Amino acid sequence: MDVLQIPTDRLWITVYTDDDQAEAIWNKHIGVPIERIVRLGRGENWWPEERWEGPCGPCTEIHLDNGPEVGCGRPDCSPACDCSRFVELWNVVFQMYTEAVDGTLSELPAPGVDTGMGFERLAMILQGKQYSTETDEMWQIIQRTIQIARTDWGRELSYGQDPETDVALRVICDHARGAAMLTADGVAPTNEGAGYVLRRFLRRAYRFGLELGADGPFMHKVLPAVADVMGQAYPELHTRQEFSVGVVKAEEEQFASTLAQGMERIGGMIEVLQAKGSTEIPGDEAFRLYDTFGLPREMTVEIASEHGLTVDMEGFEAAMARQRERSRAAVTGLSIHGGSTVATQLQPTEFAGYDETVIRANVQAIVVEGELAESLSEGTEGALVLDRTPFYAERGGQVGDQGVITGEGFRFEVTDTQPLGEAVAHTGRLLEGTVNIGDAVTASVDSDRRDATRRHHTATHLLHAALRQIVGGHVKQAGSLVGPERLRFDFSHHQAIDRDALVQVEEQVNRWILEDLPVDVQFMDLDEARESGAVALFDEKYGQTVRTVRVGGESFELCGGIHACRTGEIGSLRVLAESSVAAGTRRIEAVAGLAAVRHSRDADERLQALSRELNCPGEEIAERIEAQRQRIRELEREVEQARQMSAAINVPDLVAGAVEVAGVKLVASTIAGADREALKSLADEIVERLGSGVAV
Ligand SMILES: [Zn+2]
Ligand SMILES: [Zn+2]
Repeated sequence: MDVLQIPTDRLWITVYTDDDQAEAIWNKHIGVPIERIVRLGRGENWWPEERWEGPCGPCTEIHLDNGPEVGCGRPDCSPACDCSRFVELWNVVFQMYTEAVDGTLSELPAPGVDTGMGFERLAMILQGKQYSTETDEMWQIIQRTIQIARTDWGRELSYGQDPETDVALRVICDHARGAAMLTADGVAPTNEGAGYVLRRFLRRAYRFGLELGADGPFMHKVLPAVADVMGQAYPELHTRQEFSVGVVKAEEEQFASTLAQGMERIGGMIEVLQAKGSTEIPGDEAFRLYDTFGLPREMTVEIASEHGLTVDMEGFEAAMARQRERSRAAVTGLSIHGGSTVATQLQPTEFAGYDETVIRANVQAIVVEGELAESLSEGTEGALVLDRTPFYAERGGQVGDQGVITGEGFRFEVTDTQPLGEAVAHTGRLLEGTVNIGDAVTASVDSDRRDATRRHHTATHLLHAALRQIVGGHVKQAGSLVGPERLRFDFSHHQAIDRDALVQVEEQVNRWILEDLPVDVQFMDLDEARESGAVALFDEKYGQTVRTVRVGGESFELCGGIHACRTGEIGSLRVLAESSVAAGTRRIEAVAGLAAVRHSRDADERLQALSRELNCPGEEIAERIEAQRQRIRELEREVEQARQMSAAINVPDLVAGAVEVAGVKLVASTIAGADREALKSLADEIVERLGSGVAV
């Protein structure tokens, strides 16, 4: 330790409780005083800590004493103590045994020696970096990345050799932690809020991975390392690992393919700009890279600056704003129907759909490709506007109705219904005949689909009420989507709803369904409704007279949607998922009515298919998969041992890497898979070349 300028009197040694041999080496050969050698039990000086089926053995560790002023201050403080006084520098594992499930040990035919952590960690301490839990976590995640680089990319990386590599490894490590935490919280990559942060983490890490030699998605393989080191404090890192890995892998794969195109494009763009003597990437070009090729804007800025170019960020923002406007218009259907200019020329459509699904009406207007038209001919797509309609236009989260509009010699299929100003546009295709303005029609809503949607709407109100009752009165609706197949309910809440609460919510809704509560709709004065406690949406603008929907004594909301008459019609509700949409906003997806029945039948069929595939009853599937995993791990270990065995052992290199410890030369190396004899002769050879010393 002279070389490293660590006073040897600050070094302590721990050995396994009955490891006389290791103690003798430290004491007699290396000269560590016996009072600084501590014997510890299975929890400390045995590897691995957790009992497992596989190679194991005692270990010996070198600890650095930070002095009695650091840590707990107890007189009997030793490396066994949990406080910060003693820091583990180095760990040598003697893999001598293999352990069976019942805990019996048998001698390993091919014992090995494994040193953990090594000198890089020591270097970190010597450089004055605070050795904290955090750096230890970082360290293990970095090690996993280095391991992936070796096995997947054929790259030998190490930390502490090259500053650029170090930065890349730290970014990957940091972003892996961020991505693991976010996905464990149910966040999926999006272009907004937490989802955007996640996307940026993954994409940035991916790009740094490329610099290290990555040849494809890898972050999803780093993620389990995060769960390993932080799973104790954040159990959801384990419980949601499958989701996390899946989400991250999908995002990486998607990014990899678009990135390749985007890089090509930006490369060409930079060449053209430089040839023209320009120093700025235009905003709309940068936005195209972002929008079409998924290049994060900061990445475009980074690449541009590497070539001495800047990016017109104002132009970028403007292009982004235009894009938002376009997508908003597309959502409200205005662009399909020609926008507000058409809407202002129309009379309001009277809505008769609360009471009826089939009515007689007249064609008020026809819209084709955004323009008003006189007629619509067979096979053409367009929108019909009637004077009155039973079709519900998408509003308040409830989807627009589908159905048919028929008349003398024609049949128009309605695939969507959207508001168009105060009128209603029935969008679809004319299947046969010709429609003219003024034609008399019969408008028929697809009532099966409408009924399925109504059930989901009333179920949404019950879900809202149950959440307020069980999760808390602060729960406020932030948005919803009510359709025939499922419902989606977004609400304000700061953290994931745990499994128990979710089950309680589902049970409560189903109890109300079974009570067959009446659903009462009343129009009343807005102030009166507010005073009697009706729940209103945050940003919604209401007229002075409002429609209220009361479900038994449980739910009372302002709502213009279409509902079941009694809760019994809902049948049942199943909650499918709970996730995060943005900071402070959660989302529940659920199914009701026939959709709930179909959902459980599908789940059942999947389970049966699995049990046929695995050739075991449903209850044993988990066990069966665990057994197969175990087998895969065994095979992987065998492959790894074979790989190590075949790697050439270079004695001169080992000798050159000798380190002086208290005046004694020490060679430490990992040579797993070699048998006892091979290890002994190797050690002899090293000692011979060293002159004197110890080979571990
Ligand atoms: Zn202590
Ligand atoms: Zn509603």
